[in-house]
Amino acid sequence: MTVTKKLLKGTDDLYEPDYQRNIYKILPTALRCMGRQVPLEDLFNFPEVRAHLERNDALGAKRVIVCLVDSLGVENIQNSQLSQLFRDTEGVTLSSTFPTITSSAVTSIHLGVPPTKHGIMGHRIYFQEYGAIVDTLRMAGEGVRIRDAIVTAGIDVRRLLWSKPVVDLLSQQLDSPVIHADGLPGHIAGTGLGHFFVDKPNIIPYADYVDAFGMARRLIDHYPRKPIFATLYFGIIDYLAHKYGPHSIEYREGCDVFLRQLRVFTERLTPAEAKDTTIIICADHGQTPVREEQRILLLKEELKEVKGTLIGPPGHSGRVMHFYCAGSNNRRRLKQWLKEQLEDKALLLETKEIAKARLLPGKLTRAVTGRLGDLLLICRDGVDVEVEQSYYQSEKERLLPKSRLVGHHGSLSADELYTPFLAFNARKLT
Ligand SMILES: [Zn+2]
Repeated sequence: MTVTKKLLKGTDDLYEPDYQRNIYKILPTALRCMGRQVPLEDLFNFPEVRAHLERNDALGAKRVIVCLVDSLGVENIQNSQLSQLFRDTEGVTLSSTFPTITSSAVTSIHLGVPPTKHGIMGHRIYFQEYGAIVDTLRMAGEGVRIRDAIVTAGIDVRRLLWSKPVVDLLSQQLDSPVIHADGLPGHIAGTGLGHFFVDKPNIIPYADYVDAFGMARRLIDHYPRKPIFATLYFGIIDYLAHKYGPHSIEYREGCDVFLRQLRVFTERLTPAEAKDTTIIICADHGQTPVREEQRILLLKEELKEVKGTLIGPPGHSGRVMHFYCAGSNNRRRLKQWLKEQLEDKALLLETKEIAKARLLPGKLTRAVTGRLGDLLLICRDGVDVEVEQSYYQSEKERLLPKSRLVGHHGSLSADELYTPFLAFNARKLT
């Protein structure tokens, strides 16, 4: 099945997100594979998805293990063994959200609704509640180095959400409780973005793939007769894509090692255990290569020229920038100024144009645009944008030159937007 691939008006390289066949429906779909229904949209109304689930024996499971692999784009996995599995199982292509950034996309997956319903409209965005930009991935103020600084200050960040995590709805089904586990790399478990949707008692921390699947094995050993719903998050492929690029050998290896370890896990299951276990592989977004010569660098000195047009510093979601303007005249002035700097390397869309281009579903309320920004800079193919921070810092004392990102996401190329969804019985991998 393919999502609706519709070019964004006026471009030949960016696409409209599809909010029908969308990643935010993954967890309700996964729960339905084990006979649990929550009052949220799932993917069962698409005959192709139903056929995929039936063909691969994914329904009627006692336990479901969702592998959420950060930056696993459909276009990115082409050279890896995952593409073979995608073909063998006749995998489904889903669309990510806008922006195609972890904070918005992973929150959409965990809350089962699109960004306009949960309120996390980007990575580093403005929250009127605090009158400041918050780095939602690190839960700290812009430029604050201490991870979780906001939470440590005693602030309940869940109050920023406009809806609840999917598993909260599940815990209301008290008649036959499901064991819910949130598998996360130890260095981020219980911190950062997870404060929005991860409950500490449910965390299973791990070091790498081997440990992750070892912990999943331990979970089954400990609760052999209980229904289990586990989400295992993997961030290493995102890291590799940023550092070496989504078409690199390192990226492909990241995918292949993941699949190998998943296979080791399924082969260790007894035939009875395997029969009752459904595996889901999915992602938040993909990544696209960026070209050094196409980089947009906004210098702080230059930005001072238009500082008066903004109510605060701009927000940032990878290849997207969020501008919060002080009135429509200032927005027009800023747009004109940015246009002169950008030379067609990026789109500049105002609220009305964002709605018209259907980058987000539903109405763009004041609450939404207050966080999203009322002027967005959206990078074209191969372009990245950064605001000068320590651009002129000496690199002489380093053993190796500081590496710049060669892969990135946030914008709307096919690489970033389209993600794989595979659901299959564990026996398929043995
Ligand atoms: Zn991500």
